[in-house]
Amino acid sequence: MNTEQIKALNDAHVINTYGARKMAIVRGEGARLWDADGREYLDFFAGIAVCNLGHCHPKVTEAICRQAATLVHVSNLYYIEPQVRLADLLSRHSFAERWFFCNGGAEANEAAIKIARRFWAEQGTPRPGVVTALHSFHGRTLATITATGQPKYQKGFEPLLPGVTYVPYDDLAALEAALTPEVGLVLLEPIQGEGGVRVPAPGYLRGVRELCGKTGALLAFDEVQTGLGRTGTLFAYEHDGVTPDIMTLAKGLGNGVPIGAMGCTERVSAGFAPGSHAATFGGNPLSSAAAVATMEVLTEPGFVEAAAAKGERLFGALRALAAKHPKIVEVRGRGLMAGIECAEAVTPAISALLDAGIICGPAGPNVIRFLPPLIVSEGDIDHAVSTLDRVLGELGW
Ligand SMILES: *Cc1c(COP(=O)(O)O)cnc(C)c1O
Repeated sequence: MNTEQIKALNDAHVINTYGARKMAIVRGEGARLWDADGREYLDFFAGIAVCNLGHCHPKVTEAICRQAATLVHVSNLYYIEPQVRLADLLSRHSFAERWFFCNGGAEANEAAIKIARRFWAEQGTPRPGVVTALHSFHGRTLATITATGQPKYQKGFEPLLPGVTYVPYDDLAALEAALTPEVGLVLLEPIQGEGGVRVPAPGYLRGVRELCGKTGALLAFDEVQTGLGRTGTLFAYEHDGVTPDIMTLAKGLGNGVPIGAMGCTERVSAGFAPGSHAATFGGNPLSSAAAVATMEVLTEPGFVEAAAAKGERLFGALRALAAKHPKIVEVRGRGLMAGIECAEAVTPAISALLDAGIICGPAGPNVIRFLPPLIVSEGDIDHAVSTLDRVLGELGW
């Protein structure tokens, strides 16, 4: 089908939650994508930080094909070999000791909220309160839009989950004031993604850890976007030398095959017992095999370090652009997660970049977000930034 035919069928039969789009992507390889009319693009969004290894990475494709020919699905009524391999790999490379698998980020955060509530309930001291940050994003289920500190995602879906309160991000005094004895969980992104690529001040996450320690509240990091190498370390919490009690993963975990995970310490894992939580597809053979292959590539010696070095190049070039374009307010981020805040709504800039063959996206109304695959080349980085330079110049920004 060509783009027009695809658009016509979409408009006839798909619920319009995503609005109109310019093209249909039908093929990908590495950092390159092709649309239904044969046009090539450089991908600086990676399907929203999903295809961190680039499109159709040979090792992931091979694992998917092998598993698809062996066993696609079996229920969690049986042990699942690829799932336990994945749990082992994730445990060896993070603070977490035990894992629950699901299908995406919202579900992983649901599991985090549920295990925290049940953890306290099981101890006979219920602490149902959950504190999250303003401008956060944690998903689209009812519990996770409640946890998401942005009214635009909640409007019309009330009543929301009781017990959730919000604090300004990067504000330790506000968090301290919010940590009443009823609060059993603090849920934060180490860098806010959808909310505008906001990086907290050095020491903030450490301060959060200490405040949680004072009241005993569990700390969960939502690493759905920042995890799996995106910020130049395997997990973003590593930059700050602090570990949470719970971590959620999804986007990059299967390099495009849907899978989510909630990992936690041994102590917190006691919050769930047989029967207390489940997901039919959670950690099934196909998605787990894709995630094992993804983790194997991500943890090859030097892989994440190379992504960090490319991030340095990207940020060096973006900061140079900020010095010459008056409408760039700030360049923020870490590794290969970059936000370029502008003084104007950024839709025209993103649209002009697309016309120039570069795919990227927004993070809120005023921020252009670059999330290239971690395998992006230095030449691709230079090309994307020089194209942005030209586009901003043409817009008079
Ligand atoms: C994308 C995202 C989610 C939601 O993930 P889904 O797979 O869309 O449910 C949750 N938290 C963060 C930080 C995200 O970026």
